[in-house]
Amino acid sequence: MNKPAAVLLTLVLAITAVSVPIWFAVRQSERQAFETVSAQAMAYARDVLLRADETGDQITAGVERLARDHAAHPCSAASIDAMREIDVGSSYIQAIGHVRGDTLVCSSIAGNETALALGPVDYRTKAGAAFRRNVRFPFAPQRSFVVVEIKHFAAIIHKDLPIDTAKSASDVSLAVLSAQDPAPTTARGYIDRAWLGRLGSRTEAVFEDGPHIVAVVRSKRYLTVAVAAVPLRYLRDRSSDVAQRLVPIGLAAGVLLTLAILHLARSQMALPAAVRTALRRKELFLEYQPVVDLRTGRWVGAEALLRWRRPTGEVVQPDLFIPIAEQHGMIVRVTRRVLERVCEDAGAYLAGNPDFHIAINVSAGDFHDPDFLEGVHAALRGMGAAPASLVLEITERSLLDPDVARSTTGALRRSGFALAIDDFGTGYSSLSYLESLELDYLKIDRSFIEAIGTEAPTSQVVQHIIAIARDLDLRMIAEGVESHAQADSLRARGVQYAQGWLFGKPMPFAALAEQLERQRRQEALAANAG
Ligand code: C2E
Ligand code: CA
Ligand code: CA
Repeated sequence: MNKPAAVLLTLVLAITAVSVPIWFAVRQSERQAFETVSAQAMAYARDVLLRADETGDQITAGVERLARDHAAHPCSAASIDAMREIDVGSSYIQAIGHVRGDTLVCSSIAGNETALALGPVDYRTKAGAAFRRNVRFPFAPQRSFVVVEIKHFAAIIHKDLPIDTAKSASDVSLAVLSAQDPAPTTARGYIDRAWLGRLGSRTEAVFEDGPHIVAVVRSKRYLTVAVAAVPLRYLRDRSSDVAQRLVPIGLAAGVLLTLAILHLARSQMALPAAVRTALRRKELFLEYQPVVDLRTGRWVGAEALLRWRRPTGEVVQPDLFIPIAEQHGMIVRVTRRVLERVCEDAGAYLAGNPDFHIAINVSAGDFHDPDFLEGVHAALRGMGAAPASLVLEITERSLLDPDVARSTTGALRRSGFALAIDDFGTGYSSLSYLESLELDYLKIDRSFIEAIGTEAPTSQVVQHIIAIARDLDLRMIAEGVESHAQADSLRARGVQYAQGWLFGKPMPFAALAEQLERQRRQEALAANAG
């Protein structure tokens, strides 16, 4: 990716990082607000229904008692005493009395003295209750009452009592409606009868309708329904309330994310530059891992593995920076640096020990470098060592271009260098293609060594690789040998060489040379003894 594209991508990511959390915060706050306001509307509706049900219970109890005990003499002194007792004993009933036609002939408030006109009935329920929704009496002309008449007895109810809830929220609409009466029995604010239809067969429903959040609750005992409608403004107030709390959190998360992305992007973009600097400042160095003859246990060679010590002291593994060097056209310089370091570290040793070799890792990019071959020769001359002292390890992946692969491996071979195919089994090269190349060693990839003796599906692959190596007449080096069991199994199958933690981890050349010296002395001792 080029730099402007990377910057643009970072910017887009940063903007997304800021806006997504905010968007979620606002969405979340809206949802929370809707839930809170819905719950509020539902609580109002339930409260209204509770009061309406209680009113219904008190009316039924009072009327039934009078009809049972005083139907024959409804305006007798005993009946009026009973009416007064009912009146005082029930919280929702203002008065109770006996009706003849449209007149309250006697009652708990006026006794037998004054008859009170009630006016015509507004509607009758199927069960036989007659409702008058708006009755005014001379003793309280400014107030309107609901009169419910059953079996010629009537209860007078203060119209506001059932909806006398949510006093502090005067803009909340409340109503008690009868399923059989088109007009509300009692209501406050804007009520739409169509809301009842939204209930369906449910007993409770809450929904948004125009400028309201509406809750509807059906009575389990009567044919009444209570409604509460809360203005949508409540929702906006609430959600902006929540948003005000959540948006700063979203913003902070967004900014943190942006910083993290920028930091990451910067370090990613800076890595090739850092590798370039590492080359210039010679921060790359080598560790050497012994290659062991499986039959004798002797160290016959070592693989040079690159490390990068950053100025901070941190040592970076090659898996992290080799791919970057390959992608950014620096691998040729890296390999040249490796050759230089091999000369410095091991030059003298190789010159004096022609039967010992150092293996170096070579990338595809090196094959396309016209100076590569000459570079390797120059390194050898510098050390005063024979070409056989160097083994070049090539991965299957770097052999993808058959013409380049054939000509370069051929030239290297003719110059006397040994060639090893690295990570064998992880690439896709065909057998016939490998056959056409001139190779010396086949390195069995660590993943197949790991699988030996396990249940892993790849545990049998080693046998096939060994068969291929035999067919191609290649010597084998097993990579990543960590246990005696693995070593024994490989030895039994005729694998000649191995590398791995069982024998030695990658180490500075001085440590390797010390070990080699100790082995040499032991061999000399053994030879003398024998
Ligand atoms: P590789 O060539 O397959 O090297 C073997 C890797 O296995 C090394 O990792 C080594 O430290 C590790 N290893 C050896 N024995 C064991 C063992 O018993 N157990 C385990 N778990 N690991 C073991 P390292 O040094 O991190 O190198 C990683 C890769 O980086 C190498 O894989 C090679 O592909 C590449 N590399 C290293 N140095 C160079 C270099 O100078 N040039 C190039 N082009 N690539 C290099
Ligand atoms: Ca290797
Ligand atoms: Ca390997």
